Amino acid sequence: MRLFVAAPLPGFLIEDLQVLRRSLQSAGLKARWVPPGNMHLTLKFLGEVGSQQLPSLGDTIRAAVTSIPPITLVAKGIGGFPSLRHCRVLWVGLDGETQRLIALQQRLSGKLQSLGFPRERRAYHPHLTLARTRLPLDARHWTAPFADWTSQTMTIDQLALFASTLKPTGAEYRCLHRATLTGQIHP
Ligand code: ATP
Ligand code: MG
Repeated sequence: MRLFVAAPLPGFLIEDLQVLRRSLQSAGLKARWVPPGNMHLTLKFLGEVGSQQLPSLGDTIRAAVTSIPPITLVAKGIGGFPSLRHCRVLWVGLDGETQRLIALQQRLSGKLQSLGFPRERRAYHPHLTLARTRLPLDARHWTAPFADWTSQTMTIDQLALFASTLKPTGAEYRCLHRATLTGQIHP
């Protein structure tokens, strides 16, 4: 199974992203848009994993989120991987309690490393993928008007283990396990 750990997004946030997508599409930006139901915030891509590993993965994800309070974020700004000028992946950035998200990602990565999943060599760059392009595209012209675009505020209170099946029609994701961020919010 091809697995990854991600935070599901609230419906209103996905709707905000669809409004942004429609604006970019009306402006003429052509790309392979991520279907609304597939949108998520990836914390860790695991790759191919045998099903015998599922119980320990579930335990590890639960241990990583235990006593962590929910994380408040907004989606903000647009970027591209490897760059907006040579864009293959078009994404929306995150603002708000991003340091807490990064800390959670590091805690999760550390625990997964003990299970044999190597840490990324690249720094974790939290983002929400909006679209992918087959060929690198200079997206600056379309995205410049949305540099300050900001979503409604969301609270991330769950991580999920997803299985990804790559099909000619696109990726299909199935949730295998959920864990809730159970920490108390201290005012
Ligand atoms: P497709 O590969 O058809 O574009 P996808 O990228 O949505 O579809 P997967 O490749 O299975 O599906 O990836 C699942 C999630 O993990 C996505 O959010 C993807 O961006 C992320 N991901 C995939 N590969 C990596 C990687 N090497 N490092 C970090 N995140 C990754
Ligand atoms: Mg992929």
